[in-house]
Amino acid sequence: MENRTRILLDRYKKYISTKEIYFNYLNDYESFETSLLPHTLEILDFFNTQFKFERRGNSREGALTQKKIRTSLGEIKILSRNLKIRKDINFINQVHVYFHELTHLVNNHNNQELNKIKLSTPQKEYVAETVAQSLLYSFVGGIKARDLPSNYKWKQEEYIERWIKNAKFSDKKIIEMWKQINNSYEFISKIILKNSGFN
Ligand SMILES: [Zn+2]
Repeated sequence: MENRTRILLDRYKKYISTKEIYFNYLNDYESFETSLLPHTLEILDFFNTQFKFERRGNSREGALTQKKIRTSLGEIKILSRNLKIRKDINFINQVHVYFHELTHLVNNHNNQELNKIKLSTPQKEYVAETVAQSLLYSFVGGIKARDLPSNYKWKQEEYIERWIKNAKFSDKKIIEMWKQINNSYEFISKIILKNSGFN
């Protein structure tokens, strides 16, 4: 493994363990729809994004999708953007997948023309998963990826490694990745704390 990949893996683990623990959704709330979803609607609204549960039978855990819709009113094209997670996976996995997709959303990962520096797919996945696992650590009582229930196709702790194993990382891209990680962790966690009445 390339030395730089090793450093990135090490750094992501350290980052997660520095996060303070705020509260535990799994103890304090009944379900995703009564907790994290209402606490983050503000973010979805801001990014003009709808929340939907995945269609039955869809095997992916979640996704951030967008498509252009052509309307009959002249040639107006509307962008329809959806953040989806599966309804039939357990609460803790829903929280994890939702954090991951939310991080893609707030960093414009499907619309990188809005960003000064564009990241590759492995770089975007590194950002999304590092933030998702950090938020999980903060809001699900200190849980780590390795403690997640294993109805996934692969172990979550290996997710980042699988993506970045053969990827290239320039200094410029690494700086941008860590900027996105820090900013989006701050942004999402502040909104959750505000909307959940935590002081
Ligand atoms: Zn992703």
